[in-house]
Amino acid sequence: MEISFALTSRCNARCVHCASSCGPHRDTWLEVQEVKRLITEAAALSTGDALRVDFTGGEVFLDFDRLLDLVRFASQLGAEVGCVSNAYWATSDASASDKLRRLEQAGLSTLAISTSRFHQAFVPLSRVERAVRLARATGLLTELKVIFTQDEAGTQGAALQWSKAIPAAVHIHSPILPYLSTGQTLPEASYPRMPGLPREVCPGQSLAISENGMAYSCATPGADHDFLSLGDSRAIALAELQHRLQQGAKQRLLREHGPAYFAGAAILAGDGQHLREAYANACDLCLHIAHTDVLAQAAASLCEALHRARHGPTQSLVPMLGKTGAPDLADCSGCPSQPGDL
Ligand code: SF4
Ligand code: SF4
Repeated sequence: MEISFALTSRCNARCVHCASSCGPHRDTWLEVQEVKRLITEAAALSTGDALRVDFTGGEVFLDFDRLLDLVRFASQLGAEVGCVSNAYWATSDASASDKLRRLEQAGLSTLAISTSRFHQAFVPLSRVERAVRLARATGLLTELKVIFTQDEAGTQGAALQWSKAIPAAVHIHSPILPYLSTGQTLPEASYPRMPGLPREVCPGQSLAISENGMAYSCATPGADHDFLSLGDSRAIALAELQHRLQQGAKQRLLREHGPAYFAGAAILAGDGQHLREAYANACDLCLHIAHTDVLAQAAASLCEALHRARHGPTQSLVPMLGKTGAPDLADCSGCPSQPGDL
């Protein structure tokens, strides 16, 4: 299985686009013992399967000893371990090399560095370049995660040009989504979008634990919302959270049919005017549904109708599903374990 932990809401930066509103003004951390308990449960669930553990934030290097301890713990349980940082700590070759060597010896295999023009207001690109270059020299797999705005998009855009200067093994470019740090706004023209409903299915595979202990269907910025909530990891066993991720009706519909399926239900319910005319990708649509009550309600009603069709009195799904078609109703494993979870 794959699990990611947002260890903290604390960050040295305060990026405009930070959907979790992290920054120096916040200081919530997941308890180390709690993270270790969940990793232990994840390892027990992963017998025969690969276990992948990622540590994100906030900025995880702000408590380096905690990060080192958790990387070592997860690695000793057989996990492949990654972490995400903004590279603020790469102030010199000597100090950055020392941190990276200690992480590699503790069992870290992947270092992902996030950057964008919003990050660069707090962390210069030279530190990103240093962190990635030295991580490669240390033997880590390196990923560069670039968030770009509409005016930076495309092959001639600024985002691609400056990311070429960073020697990461993997470059991941993602459009900025309209879930910003509290109180921040950007002009609508900032968001890269394509007309129509994106047809891709949900790419999420990883159970995400936020810094307050709540579990979500993915770690996409803006996804820490009731719509994608799986429950409280401090009160619900990890096996049940993983079951909800894999078998929950909403999560399965997203993975098998994509969020456009829910958009179709909203259109058929007469609420299509609440959809936008353009989206960046499937996650943009999914989060727009999540953050728009009337759309989220249409999606929930569709899940409920499917659940009743499987387990309750027979009823026609035609008015709800229209021409979009229903998932395989012979397969009841798509329902959550508790009807109330719908
Ligand atoms: S986007 Fe990343 S670097 Fe920026 S404030 Fe949020 S956690 Fe910190
Ligand atoms: S489609 Fe939704 S649940 Fe899937 S990864 Fe994107 S935001 Fe997360």
